[in-house]
Amino acid sequence: MNKKIGSTENTKKILENNNFFIKKKFGQNFLIDQNILNNIVDNAEIDNETDVIEIGPGLGSLTEIIASRAKRVLCYEIDSDLIPILNNNLNDFNNINILNQDILKSNVVEDIKKYFPDSKKVYLIANLPYYITTPIILSLLEQTTSIRRYVMMMQLEVADRICSKPDVKDYNALSIAIQYRAKATKVMTISSNVFIPKPGVDSAVIRLDLYNEIEEKANDEEFFFKLIRNSFAQRRKTLVNNLTNAGINKNKVIEVLNELKLDLSIRSEALSVLDFVRLSNLLSK
Ligand code: SAM
Repeated sequence: MNKKIGSTENTKKILENNNFFIKKKFGQNFLIDQNILNNIVDNAEIDNETDVIEIGPGLGSLTEIIASRAKRVLCYEIDSDLIPILNNNLNDFNNINILNQDILKSNVVEDIKKYFPDSKKVYLIANLPYYITTPIILSLLEQTTSIRRYVMMMQLEVADRICSKPDVKDYNALSIAIQYRAKATKVMTISSNVFIPKPGVDSAVIRLDLYNEIEEKANDEEFFFKLIRNSFAQRRKTLVNNLTNAGINKNKVIEVLNELKLDLSIRSEALSVLDFVRLSNLLSK
């Protein structure tokens, strides 16, 4: 059933036959390497009981591989010009639903109930549109815990930030916001040569596995997420200065850092996710 949509030859043919002009504004870079496409899906470890959400199916190159291994696939594609092409390319499958929708304006929780009734597990696999990588991930993590695993291709730089550990230059509020809920692993780095058109940046695939139980929960998650954003507002400043600038009482910050046995000159990048949770719980009391 696999037509190998994502090969150089087939991709060029599909674009030409459909008179399709690639839209940069939608972050359209189509993958043309079957090994990488297969590798992405391998990393998700899906079986015929897995339901998969795909964002931005494009021409359907990842979709056909996912559909041949998963139970059901639900795709969100913003570009209406791609819908007839997808329907045609994927017409051998009866387990795919394609929604012509902006993922950022979709109610994924309702869609999971509607399209995956009685689901055993829901995963997400995507070669993301790079211009909205961070909002997509943060919005999905916030909306639902039903998606237990995410395997996603994105810009290398963002992948490094998401997976980074304390004391590394890439570690920031995004690393903490995501690692609070999930184990983040970079699974491969990918050169820009395997796309049509070539993106101006290198790419990487990461995997997020949601924790069954968060080790220590923030009592007030809204405060926690605001606190981490404020803590990294100015990297060269100490944590005390960043938090004071954000309007938190300096004496309170000092008292809490002492209680946590953290140095008063500490910078935000030295704190672990757990340190931030504890800091947040004491400050929000
Ligand atoms: N999956 C295909 C592949 O790997 O070749 C295409 C990936 S391409 C990097 C990103 C895809 O996301 C494009 O098809 C684009 O039209 C779609 N897209 C862009 N913004 C979107 C949005 N807000 N919601 C849903 N899809 C979007």
